[in-house]
Amino acid sequence: MKTSVIGFPRIGAHRELKFASEKYFAKTISQEELEQAAKQIRLDGWKKQAEAGIDFISSNDFSFYDGMLDTAFMLGAIPARYKALCLSKLDTFFAMARGFQSEKSDVTALPMKKWFNTNYHYIVPEIEESTELRLDATKIASEYKEAAGAGIKTKINVIGPFTFLKLAHYSGTKNAASFADDAAKCYKQLLAECAKLGAEWLQIEEPYLVFDLTDEDKQLFKALYEKILPGKPLKVLLQTYFGDVRDFYTEIIKYDFDAFGLDFVEGKESLNLLKKYGFPKDKLLFAGVVNGKNIWRNNYEKTAALIAEIEKAAAGAETVISTSCSLLHVPYTTKNEEKLSAEILAHFAFAEEKLKELKDIADADSKAFAENKKLFAHERVEKNLALADKISKLTAKDFTRVPAFAEREAIQKKALNLPPFPTTTIGSFPQTQEVRKNRADFKKGLISKEQYEDFNKKMIARCIKKQEEIGLDVLVHGEFERNDMVEYFGENLDGYIFTQKAWVQSYGTRCVKPPVVWGDITRKNQITVDWSVYAQSCADKNSKKPVKGMLTGPVTILNWSFPREDISLKECAFQIAFAIRDEVLDLEANGIRIIQIDEAALKEKLPLRKADWHSEYLDWAIPAFNLVHSGCKAETQIHTHMCYSEFIPIITDIDNMDADVITFEASRSNLEILQALKEKNFRTEVGPGVYDIHSPRVPSVEEIVAAVNKMKQFVKPSKLWINPDCGLKTRGETETDASLKNLVAAAKKVRG
Ligand code: GLN
Ligand code: ZN
Repeated sequence: MKTSVIGFPRIGAHRELKFASEKYFAKTISQEELEQAAKQIRLDGWKKQAEAGIDFISSNDFSFYDGMLDTAFMLGAIPARYKALCLSKLDTFFAMARGFQSEKSDVTALPMKKWFNTNYHYIVPEIEESTELRLDATKIASEYKEAAGAGIKTKINVIGPFTFLKLAHYSGTKNAASFADDAAKCYKQLLAECAKLGAEWLQIEEPYLVFDLTDEDKQLFKALYEKILPGKPLKVLLQTYFGDVRDFYTEIIKYDFDAFGLDFVEGKESLNLLKKYGFPKDKLLFAGVVNGKNIWRNNYEKTAALIAEIEKAAAGAETVISTSCSLLHVPYTTKNEEKLSAEILAHFAFAEEKLKELKDIADADSKAFAENKKLFAHERVEKNLALADKISKLTAKDFTRVPAFAEREAIQKKALNLPPFPTTTIGSFPQTQEVRKNRADFKKGLISKEQYEDFNKKMIARCIKKQEEIGLDVLVHGEFERNDMVEYFGENLDGYIFTQKAWVQSYGTRCVKPPVVWGDITRKNQITVDWSVYAQSCADKNSKKPVKGMLTGPVTILNWSFPREDISLKECAFQIAFAIRDEVLDLEANGIRIIQIDEAALKEKLPLRKADWHSEYLDWAIPAFNLVHSGCKAETQIHTHMCYSEFIPIITDIDNMDADVITFEASRSNLEILQALKEKNFRTEVGPGVYDIHSPRVPSVEEIVAAVNKMKQFVKPSKLWINPDCGLKTRGETETDASLKNLVAAAKKVRG
């Protein structure tokens, strides 16, 4: 069997692209030097794949920033304001990605959005009324030739016109359909150009096909491909990933593509579709069976069995085995890990290791199969039976907080005695150079635990005092001990392990290093109690302002980690929920009256198809959150926070989290969400962020008053909180103080 890789990591084994780009932005290296670094990254990737014996290796899977942005460039979808900057091609590209400021001009970047159900963000192309799509295939040609020069014949990758047009933003009155003809022309021309280069295959990626499609969407797909495919001069692979094509399958396989790439890892219906409707005999089936998103070893025996079923269902057609999506979503190689034991590393397959997996499976290499079998012969970790038992015995009661919301609301109003429109912040305060240095020095062993803690205590005392001076009602300790809201908790939980170099691209050249859920999760020790108790002790004894405890919720901890595959996400979420629940109860027992449980990433793993939202996700994610706080006293006020406000479609589920207060981002997109809160009779008290913390700008008092007045039209005043829209850790101290002073002044005005 032949093998195919949908795409390879483009950041480099040691994040070379990140460092080279940063130098280029700082003007310490030239464009040629940056291009040289990129060339080396591409070459390394191609060589690795060729050495591993991969048959279908991609070119044009590289990007200096993002593949959607490359596609916009390829089609000439460059908004006029960027063209007007009169920069070089590369700098125009970077201006669209990052914004551009000079003495004469100040242009913001195009917005970013999450790429399907990954933690990768793409640049949202903007198509203007006057945009004329025109093909520019220089990047594609040069990368193809570069690979050819290295002796590697590649399949050329490109994001398809359907996905591109569906994800683009239209700033004028036109829409995706208005550009279908022009886009089709460009792609038709692209096919010709690719053929001219000598390429045999073009991989057109259409992940949008795994969403629920409307008739209009299907019409658009038709309008595009009925024009692009006739008389095609090279072979075209229609590549899908992140799910299955479901009800569109029977239509799609009728199109004149030469191959179809289907995902058998996340596409839970793919095999059924194949079994039910068969597969065209004269086409190739690219079967995504090696998970491109996780870091665990493939189970060869299971995969071989799956392939046997696939081949049986697609009788007669040739099967190529492939990754389930681009390997962009996994780290580069386990070889960079120096601290983890060989025993642990044997269970990991990052991008490079997945190449060998593809080849082993394709060759049915018996020695490799025997080796692989050993990994799965025993449970990887000893099961925590007591914990499993506790989870299996959970009943509705464990997820239900009593008394019910309304009664709690009244009790808390009395107990906390807060003014109307209480003011608060989301948790973190500016992480100054000193704060970071203190943590780094402690990690490196340069200072003692005592020195480290003393510094943090000083910072906490100062932070509390400042908040009291400013006049905020609910205080926070400031989170100076935290590097990252997930890593910090992971480090205090048994069952987590951490890598040194397992970086995954998040946006542009920025990477994240998610921790790995290795075993059953339990809390090692109290995590935040000392800090919170200390912070509360710093507060003025007369005014008795509450200090909020600050935790990360189980769903967010799980969503920002590499999850296990040997137990369900639900099981794992409940394990984490128990650990955080213990922390909640300890905070409460130690006099903390308000506890915030952040669920910044709750929406991130919402399945792409609506039919799966509840059964696959919300039905355990919301209960996991409930479990964390269901044991609290009525007086204890539970807050949660979300870094976005696009939760209208799941607004009832959010209300069912049964928090007492939710704060969220609303400063940019307020009206719709406010309307929805009102319509749905949202019960939870709300703090829609009154200003945007993502910019150093200080909001004026009037502006905040206006925002609150607008909110008052939709939210009962007795339920409304006043707060910024997210944590303040990325801000400077000066602008933060000024902004918070204005926020408090605005609250006083509104109360008056
Ligand atoms: N409590 C966290 C903070 O204030 C929340 C961060 C987030 O929402 N991403 O930083
Ligand atoms: Zn946030």
